Amino acid sequence: MLQAKITAYAKINLVLDVLRKREDGYHEVAMVMQAVDLHDTIHLKEAERNWITTNNRHIPMNMNNLAMRAVTLMQREFSGQVPKLEVTLEKQIPVAAGMAGGSTDCAAVMLGINQICNLGLTQKELEYLASQLGSDIPFCIGGPTALATGRGELIEPLPECPELHLVLVKPPFGVSTPKVYGNLRIHEVAEHPDVQQCIDGLKAGDKAQVLNAMGNVLERSTFELQPKVEQIKNGMLACGAEHVLMSGSGPTVFAAFAEQSQAEQYYNKLRRQYPGAVLTRTISKKQLDERVENYGRK
Ligand code: ATP
Repeated sequence: MLQAKITAYAKINLVLDVLRKREDGYHEVAMVMQAVDLHDTIHLKEAERNWITTNNRHIPMNMNNLAMRAVTLMQREFSGQVPKLEVTLEKQIPVAAGMAGGSTDCAAVMLGINQICNLGLTQKELEYLASQLGSDIPFCIGGPTALATGRGELIEPLPECPELHLVLVKPPFGVSTPKVYGNLRIHEVAEHPDVQQCIDGLKAGDKAQVLNAMGNVLERSTFELQPKVEQIKNGMLACGAEHVLMSGSGPTVFAAFAEQSQAEQYYNKLRRQYPGAVLTRTISKKQLDERVENYGRK
């Protein structure tokens, strides 16, 4: 029986810029994406029929789950080579958080199937397939640090981010990504984040430069729709963090630190105000490369 366990890492955006609205309605973006240690765990097992079980009741427990959409896509593309699968999804990444939770599960299932079924697909081929299911999924196939352009689906690897330590706060509500983009008046944005400064910082392995370049052009739009997110950001700054940013279209807000001890100290303080805060860190390419455990035939 084919079996595998895959670790599906969440992401944050160190920089998110929106350049323009395209004729097709999508926005042209430039984002520095970074995988973090917070993760879901997925078990794949050959079965009589496709089905999913999960510990989270806020996500679809049917073929609409992005993990199952990956299964059916791979079965359709590689008919006869991919058996029916049981997917067990242990969710830890908050849902609708701006941390690519569904996208990373989808990517993890594609990577797992590629290995257990010996499909031999390259990263580029998997990224291409993944782009059919969502703009954030190609990044989740590769990583851990990449520049995403186009709708977010064009991925260019960047030098690995020097380890940063993060404290995340996910408010108890979601925000709709289409609404955030819909509310964005890009021509009114006076100040865009400096994507190149972040890339230069990554190339130089300079944590301070990376931290100073952090920026997200969607913050204003999300804050207008959900003022509570801005209150959380302000609260996190007031608690003693210098670098605080909303991830993606929100509502998760994170504080980033160069040193683990700084993050731990801050986490202990912030937890009094936000008991659900999460302490995590960025991950290395080595950690990402070890995410699929292929148990082969058992
Ligand atoms: P992104 O950062 O890519 O915009 P997100 O972190 O904001 O994504 P998700 O956690 O991926 O949001 O959830 C978005 C929607 O996708 C939810 O409404 C959820 O019901 C649905 N969904 C489908 N499959 C999954 C999955 N495996 N995990 C989480 N959400 C899923």
